[in-house]
Amino acid sequence: MSEQVAMGIDLGGTTFKVGLLTGEGELLESSSHPTPPDNALAVLGVIETAGKDLLSRHMDRALVGVGIGVPGQVVPETGAIVRCPNLEVMDGVNAGERLAATFGMPAWVANDAFCATLAELRYGAGRGVQNLLLLTLGTGVGGGVVLDNKVRRGPRQLMGEIGHMTIAPGGRRCGCGSFGCLEAMAAKQAMIDMTVERLQSGRPSLIDELTGGDDNAITPRVIAQAAQQGDKVARRVVDQTGHYIGLAICNAILLVDPDLVLIGGGIAATGELLFDAIRRTVKHVGIFAQFDVNKIVPAALGNHAGTYGAGALVWE
Ligand SMILES: [Zn+2]
Repeated sequence: MSEQVAMGIDLGGTTFKVGLLTGEGELLESSSHPTPPDNALAVLGVIETAGKDLLSRHMDRALVGVGIGVPGQVVPETGAIVRCPNLEVMDGVNAGERLAATFGMPAWVANDAFCATLAELRYGAGRGVQNLLLLTLGTGVGGGVVLDNKVRRGPRQLMGEIGHMTIAPGGRRCGCGSFGCLEAMAAKQAMIDMTVERLQSGRPSLIDELTGGDDNAITPRVIAQAAQQGDKVARRVVDQTGHYIGLAICNAILLVDPDLVLIGGGIAATGELLFDAIRRTVKHVGIFAQFDVNKIVPAALGNHAGTYGAGALVWE
């Protein structure tokens, strides 16, 4: 009998990934493709093509199921996608039914943050941990909660939505309509805007050298690079970002009491300086003396977490 394999699909607003995951957690192969913006049929069509292409290169494996993580709200029980703010063509589509019909195998649908959390729990930095808090920091801020070795979302799938926790009352406006959410204060655009403001007030900075003075070329990566070289403007932005993230983690610790806090996503690549700032804030809040700040560590699976997690839906 040929060895079994699960297909994991990580659907994003601009790109999607498809991968084949073994029961032991080995990602045999994965590929990345643009997500067509036109309509749901086109999206499902390219997923089918990419998936079948992948399977054709692993004929020795038997597909046992398909999992998909989507950037929005889903009904896991039925496989229906309710709402995808960054991929509205998928609103109301029953992705579970469609994928099951396409591949002739059972299919599971989950939110992408759920998948990332499940991936870190089973195959990443959270292996063997019972209670876990995950934050993913990128264009937006996502999160996930694990209690007693199970990823939880709650009845309205709100558990872990740490990106919309208020950490600065009256602060920057968030995409959700509220003000001062973590996502508005500490994600990619907030870091860039904070940097531009400081540069425009005339502070000399290495960032100008790195970007040739073009503010449009400022990215978290550039900020991190300058911070590592001791640049004051960049250091201040990284410290402030870490402080906001640290505040959110303090609040979350009170609710979740995690054994471990994992931080992933593009912003996490800012590195140790950011983690230091986060740990400083968490440490400063006295009540957390019992929480070991060294338990705040980077996630392990990088941008493959979604694919691992979608495949893991099948093995769960
Ligand atoms: Zn918000």
